[in-house]
Amino acid sequence: MGLKQVPDVWVDVQVSGTRMDVGAPSVGSSGGHASSTPPANLDALDKAQTLRVKLSGWASLLPQLHPFGEPPVIAAWLLTQIPDIRKQPWAGDLLQELQESLQECRLATDRAAERITLGQCWNDIDGGRCEATVTAVNGARVARCKECGATSDVRTRQQWLLSEAWEAAAPLPVILRALRIVGTEVKPKDAENWVSRGKVIACIHEDGGKTYQLNAMRRVHEQMQAKRERRVTREKLSSIA
Ligand SMILES: [Zn+2]
Repeated sequence: MGLKQVPDVWVDVQVSGTRMDVGAPSVGSSGGHASSTPPANLDALDKAQTLRVKLSGWASLLPQLHPFGEPPVIAAWLLTQIPDIRKQPWAGDLLQELQESLQECRLATDRAAERITLGQCWNDIDGGRCEATVTAVNGARVARCKECGATSDVRTRQQWLLSEAWEAAAPLPVILRALRIVGTEVKPKDAENWVSRGKVIACIHEDGGKTYQLNAMRRVHEQMQAKRERRVTREKLSSIA
């Protein structure tokens, strides 16, 4: 009756509402470009608040003592009370309002967040493997397969996708975002500098667009990092002397 969807919808709308890393990692993303959404999404937070108020409102209408907590807790408890809820004259209203509220949350989530795709699920199910594509709201830590319900760590999945994509080439902003996922922060200025010095070779396409190889950018970054560290050590040593 919709109560089972509360945990998923709640997590997504919370992530969208409080997302601070707009335009951050999105390897395999459908969009791939940074969005101009403000850091905190008031629309999503507002819809989440409505869902919270509605659920605790319904819970308090039952004579039984209900737990306090986040909507997933209340929803889980309401699920255990279904036989009682069915006897209430407001059961139909609950269903309708709950569905409306969940739908509002979903829409707010979609407006706020770019969904990222995280490769195929590959979870073991009934002797086979789940072939559904796993997606998550950008900024979420845990992804959940809509097909089989398996959960997985978003970062681990992104790193796995990246390890499969080291040979891939893409425009500079995409390459820099991808590197950030694996914890490699490359400043756009540095990258442009390496390109102009020929350390990273651009592939120039017919339409004039340029792409760079992920692996090449990472290698140059590591070389530069090592060089910088050697210089710092040298300077420290000479200041001691
Ligand atoms: Zn699955």
